[in-house]
Amino acid sequence: MNSRLIIEPARFQGQPGFELRIRDSRITVQEFLDELNQSYLKMDWPRLWPQNRVGCEGCDLCCQEPLPVTSVDVMQIREALGIDQLEVFRYLWVELQGPAVDITLRRRGAKCIFLNSRGKCRIYARRPFACQTYLCCQTSPNFENLRSQIINSGMDELVRCSLAAYNKAGRPFPVNRSQNPKLNPHHWPKGYFTGKTSYQQLRLARVLSFDLWRKMLLLK
Ligand code: SF4
Ligand code: SF4
Repeated sequence: MNSRLIIEPARFQGQPGFELRIRDSRITVQEFLDELNQSYLKMDWPRLWPQNRVGCEGCDLCCQEPLPVTSVDVMQIREALGIDQLEVFRYLWVELQGPAVDITLRRRGAKCIFLNSRGKCRIYARRPFACQTYLCCQTSPNFENLRSQIINSGMDELVRCSLAAYNKAGRPFPVNRSQNPKLNPHHWPKGYFTGKTSYQQLRLARVLSFDLWRKMLLLK
């Protein structure tokens, strides 16, 4: 039993996975991640992908997927590499589709740019939220919504502050691929992620919608 989270095996569509509930109404995103990471180490049900694997050690398959990033993820990558707000875009990939902006980790060939030749993550201790919360087994719709809401809020702030930084530097925002782009800086107002440099500064209850928070919080 965890102190702040309850993570229990469950079956979804006949496949083994997990259900997650929250017991601490004041939990921060970092505390959520810490408990989740500890719990992952103890989970021993088979992964879906690759089939029948138990545990992640020695596997890097999910590092070959597009990994979305938040403003806090990018701050942590910058700290790990000692680089500034503009330089970090060498490690990111930006796509525009109409008014929408999607920022993911850049890939080298099929694999994440941070994966080394031995199949290990070079920034493992500071890997993004999306990496830390991905496990290739079935999860509940609430857990998937939680991931989406945090990533979407954090990416909105990443777009907002990056547009401002490039504008201030008098340089064009770097776009790697676009389709009918309609980039408008006014689409990204300041939000709860603004000014936050770590997940410890973010309360989960403030990031999630009221409806989702109410479903996930297990009142005593
Ligand atoms: S979560 Fe990723 S690293 Fe772990 S077993 Fe699944 S594909 Fe491999
Ligand atoms: S940052 Fe690390 S864990 Fe995340 S996709 Fe890249 S190599 Fe994998």
